Amino acid sequence: MVVLLDTTHQSEASALTEAADRKPSLASAGRRRLTEALLSIGVPEKQVRMRVSQLWRWIYVMGVTSFDAMTDVSKDLRRALEAQFTLDRLEIVSEQVSIDGTRKWLLRLPKRVHEAKAPEIECVYIPEEDRGTLCISSQVGCTLTCTFCHTGTQRLVRNLEADEIVGQILLARDRIGDWPGVTPPADGRLLPNTERKITNVVLMGMGEPLYNVDNVRDAMEVTADGEGLSVSKRRITLSTSGIVPEIVRWGRESGTMLAISLHAVHDDLRDVLVPINKKYPLADLLEACRNYPGLSNAKRITFEYVMLKGVNDSLADARALVRLLANIPAKINLIPFNPWPGSEYECSDWETIETFADVVNRAGYASPVRTPRGRDILAACGQLRSESVKLRAQDRRQTSSSSTQMGEA
Ligand code: SAH
Ligand code: SF4
Repeated sequence: MVVLLDTTHQSEASALTEAADRKPSLASAGRRRLTEALLSIGVPEKQVRMRVSQLWRWIYVMGVTSFDAMTDVSKDLRRALEAQFTLDRLEIVSEQVSIDGTRKWLLRLPKRVHEAKAPEIECVYIPEEDRGTLCISSQVGCTLTCTFCHTGTQRLVRNLEADEIVGQILLARDRIGDWPGVTPPADGRLLPNTERKITNVVLMGMGEPLYNVDNVRDAMEVTADGEGLSVSKRRITLSTSGIVPEIVRWGRESGTMLAISLHAVHDDLRDVLVPINKKYPLADLLEACRNYPGLSNAKRITFEYVMLKGVNDSLADARALVRLLANIPAKINLIPFNPWPGSEYECSDWETIETFADVVNRAGYASPVRTPRGRDILAACGQLRSESVKLRAQDRRQTSSSSTQMGEA
C-alpha cells in the first residue's frame, strides 16, 4: 500500500521554484558562497565571519526557510538578504511513503538555459529502529552502463552541483520533520528512535559519485560540518563502481566510508556486469581498496554483491568472494536483484541466496543480506527515476480527485 501525498504541497513547491528563478537560493550553500553573498550585499568584511556562522546555524541546525526567522540577525540585514536571495528547497515533483516507512521523493532541479526540460532526480529515506538512512543521487543519469542497473540505461544528463546534493538532505529533513521543535509527519509511519532521524547518508542513488568528485566532496564537507548538519564522516558512505584512480584520492580528501559495487569475482563476468571493469580490472580495484586511507577493522569497506540468478550466485562464486576479500577489512552486502522492465536478469532464488550467505557468514561476515525496502514504491537500488516516470502518470490519475489518497501499488 502506498500513501500518495498532498498535491497542495506540490503546487506550493512549484511556486517557490519559480521564485528561485529570479533570486538564487542560499539553502545548501557552503561557507564560501555565503561569504560571497554577504559581501555582495555590503556586509563589512570584518563582520562576515560572524554573520556566516549565524546563517549557518539557522540554515543547517534550525532548518529555517526564511531569513525573517533569523531572530539574532538585524532586521536590516534580514531585509537585505530577502531582497537578493531565498532559502528555497529543491522542488518536489512527488513524494511516496511505503508501508514500511521508506519514503521516496522525485525532485526537480532548476532548469538551465540550454536544457530542454528541468532534470529530475530521486532520493530515498529508509528508517530502521536505530538509524535512518538517506540515499542521495550525485548525477542525473550515469555515463556507465552496468547491465543490471536501470540508471545504466539512461544517458548522463549532468552532474549535480554541491548544493543540489546537500539540498536532498535539507528536503528530506523538512519532510520527516527532522529539525528542532518540528513535529514529524502524522502519517504514523516508522521513524527511528534516534534523536536525529537522518543518522546516515549513502551516495547510492543515481550516478557515479567518483565522476563528480569535486561537487560531492564539497557537499559532504557541508554534510559533515560539526556546527551544521553534523552527519559524521563515519556515517557517510560513498558507493562506487570502481573508478580506481579516484578511490584513494577520495579517501585522503574526504575520509568517508567506502562501498564498492563488486558483483563478480572474475574479470570476464565483471567486464559484462560492470563494464568499467575493462578499464579498471579487479586486481587494480582491490589494490586501491587495500590502500584506502584509514582502513581498519573498525573502518571497513563494504562490498556490494547483487544476486543474479544463474549468473554470479554459485557456491564457487561465494567461496571465491570470501577468498578475494580475505586480506581487506571488509563487510559484504548481498543485494537481492531488483528487476526492472526489460532487464535481462532475474533475482536469485531465496534458497540460493541463503546458501550463498551461509558461506559468507561462516567466513566471519555478519548478516550479509540486505533486506529489500520500499518495494511497494519502487524505492530500491537500480529502480530509481525511470520507474517513477511511469508511476507519476498513475499518481496523477489517482490524485486527481483529492489531495491525499491511499492506493494499492
Ligand atoms: N554508481 C554507484 C552508486 C549508485 S548505484 C555504484 O555503482 O556503486 C548503488 C548500488 O545499487 C550499487 O551497488 C549498484 O550496483 C546497485 N544496483 C544497481 N541496480 C541494481 C538492481 N537492479 N538491483 C540491485 N542493486 C542494484
Ligand atoms: Fe551507474 Fe552505479 Fe548504475 Fe553502474 S550501478 S550504471 S555506475 S549508477
